Amino acid sequence: MEIEEFAQYSIVKAQEVGTSDIHILPEENHYSLYFRIGGKMSFWNSVPEENGKRVISYFKYLSNMDVGERRKPQSGASQLLINGKAIALRFSTITNFRAQESMVIRILNSAAHLSLLKTTYFKKEVQMIEQLAQFNSGLLIFSGPVGSGKTTTMYQLVRESYLVSKQQVITVEDPVEIEEPLFLQTQVNEKAGITYETLLKSSLRHHPDTIIIGEIRDEETAKMVIRGALTGHLIIASVHAKNTVGVVSRLLELGVTQEQLKQTLLGVVFQKLIPKYCPFCKGDCDPACAHNNLYEKRAILYDVLSRKELKQFLSQTHSEEEIQEKLTRSFNLLLRKAYAYGYISEKNYIQFQIP
Ligand SMILES: [Zn+2]
Repeated sequence: MEIEEFAQYSIVKAQEVGTSDIHILPEENHYSLYFRIGGKMSFWNSVPEENGKRVISYFKYLSNMDVGERRKPQSGASQLLINGKAIALRFSTITNFRAQESMVIRILNSAAHLSLLKTTYFKKEVQMIEQLAQFNSGLLIFSGPVGSGKTTTMYQLVRESYLVSKQQVITVEDPVEIEEPLFLQTQVNEKAGITYETLLKSSLRHHPDTIIIGEIRDEETAKMVIRGALTGHLIIASVHAKNTVGVVSRLLELGVTQEQLKQTLLGVVFQKLIPKYCPFCKGDCDPACAHNNLYEKRAILYDVLSRKELKQFLSQTHSEEEIQEKLTRSFNLLLRKAYAYGYISEKNYIQFQIP
């Protein structure tokens, strides 16, 4: 098989089995290709070192990277037309101390739009979130570790309300992870001076109904987000924090006042993507097991801090710990419920707790 043929074949195979990333990794004297399926890496194929290098070069060429540059990390994007269907791909390279280059290819799967109710452990929290997204102005924040499906949730939430009533949606991200033709998607490019702040500023001038923001990570963006939420936009954004209450503290840290939060914050969602317990696999469901289909081997556990609860806390001067103790619903309590119902394994119950 020609290199080009093999490279395309690997993408087709990967997509067939629901792979999110292909890892092309150098080993002693060959290259191994791994597929990441449902969060787990599994070995797919190995090729001689020379062929591995050629496959990487082919993809670098395809995604407009500098093919001659082998030391500096690079990233790029491309589309591959396979059986008349465009598959969007993101590429990144990095080189180890032995000067061997490795590559990761992310396959952006726009085919799998599963409703939020189908991909969660408990429906009640999803219904709360869907209600919060019906406001036409205010701020709805998502938090959770990397890979917890925040972007997927935010997109699906807005997509669902878009389908009910057409609206203009702008996204500001770094980088765009999911391609969605219904939204106007913009991407931060620090090198070119295009920051979250500048993109958000121009987005607001477009007067969209909804703005999705990849991450609020500096004071300027936080300030602009509040302004947007106060002037009749629904802003859905993610903030890095360890739980729902932590999000409030983080926003205060970024210079947002308590009064502004009271006026704008609709709710805070914290989420983690957790493998389902499979009775056949006696634990996490193996990619090859037919009990759950590929996209349903994991589900999201959501914790929601509602507007009412938020207002209560914001009018008092409690510490984060005191607030956390007063909550009748928290991520860890919901996790315990999922374990008690037999939805998740004991191992994951322990591993996914918030310390
Ligand atoms: Zn299984």
